[in-house]
Amino acid sequence: MTVNLLDYDREGLIDFLVEMGEKPFRAKQILKWIHQSNQSDFNQMSDLAKNLRTKLSESSVIAMPQVTRDHTAADGTRKWLLSVGSGNGIESVFIPEANRGTLCVSSQVGCALACAFCATGKQGFNRNLSVAEIVGQLWLANKMLVKDFDRQPLAKMQADIADPQIMYSVRRVTNIVMMGMGEPLANFENVVTALNVMLDDHAYGLSRRRVTVSTSGLIPAMDRLRKRCPVALAVSLHAPNDPLRDHLVPINQKYPIKDLLAACQRYLQDAPRDFITFEYVMLDGINDSASHARELIKLVRDVPCKFNLIPFNAFPNSEFRRSSSESIRVFRDMLMQAGLMTTVRKTRGDDIAAACGQLAGRVYDKTRRTAKENIEAI
Ligand code: SAH
Ligand code: SF4
Repeated sequence: MTVNLLDYDREGLIDFLVEMGEKPFRAKQILKWIHQSNQSDFNQMSDLAKNLRTKLSESSVIAMPQVTRDHTAADGTRKWLLSVGSGNGIESVFIPEANRGTLCVSSQVGCALACAFCATGKQGFNRNLSVAEIVGQLWLANKMLVKDFDRQPLAKMQADIADPQIMYSVRRVTNIVMMGMGEPLANFENVVTALNVMLDDHAYGLSRRRVTVSTSGLIPAMDRLRKRCPVALAVSLHAPNDPLRDHLVPINQKYPIKDLLAACQRYLQDAPRDFITFEYVMLDGINDSASHARELIKLVRDVPCKFNLIPFNAFPNSEFRRSSSESIRVFRDMLMQAGLMTTVRKTRGDDIAAACGQLAGRVYDKTRRTAKENIEAI
């Protein structure tokens, strides 16, 4: 059976090589070729013996999803639609900033958790992504960023972007957020293996602080993540009390806020950062009043945290509206005055529907379950 080497972290690759009678240290060389040199052709891996290259090409491939659309927004945000077979599509988004280049990575085709305000949740669930499909998003992004960067005449680039730090961040992914389509912790094993590759010095070598998993609050998986692969954690809170959160984030009916905050406290014992990021989508007239802010401040009193307010991003047939800039400002100021570090997420890539919660891809719902049935099944 042909295996896809993009499915392996270092440990998996070592097992694979040892089984074919090769030395474990070859894994490091191969990881470097694949992930640092973006090489998918075994014949080009010049420091591997000819017979190993032949063995590899007979037994394995390096295969990533196919890019079916590639859009760049006016603000530089770039969105790729990737085909993952059976008519399904996923999306990943690259957000260049002054000192970093962040890739927003998808973890599932669709999502079973059906949050009321999320385009992915509205589409239902098809399947988990494989490790190769998750890591492949990063592989492809780097490949295309480098290629397009090299195509630009250097003089023009230097005139546009004089700062070398900026030049680096627009040509490579420096940060990952698992905030694309899907709930990463519902695809636990594949996500952890993919995280291992992102962190491995012989592959992408990203620090744990630069890799963020965002979760709607799957408590048992949060506890497993902190033991297996503690990276930075963002938790989608979105409401200051259970009745409202039950409605907006239905998984709350299973894992209510009090238990979720206790899990955040536990996570912090192993986390690479000394705070949890709480994401809070700003929905006009739903969760954005001064009294919601007061309730929220009281709620998170004991959890070292920062807030990231996300202005709601509308999508076709969404029943919510974005809070006004004024309500967002008042809400932020109240949190800040209470000593909570709070940022408002800039809405990037608006014109190509690349913002949080707008990633639609193409999902054929396979489960046909109700949200309640989905939650029970998780
Ligand atoms: N499933 C994970 C990660 C993917 S969503 C999670 O829910 O955390 C990334 C972030 O975007 C989450 O905080 C999510 O709640 C938020 N989001 C979803 N739909 C949105 C929308 N339409 N507008 C703004 N934020 C949204
Ligand atoms: Fe799934 Fe996250 Fe969307 Fe909720 S917000 S439906 S958990 S992707």
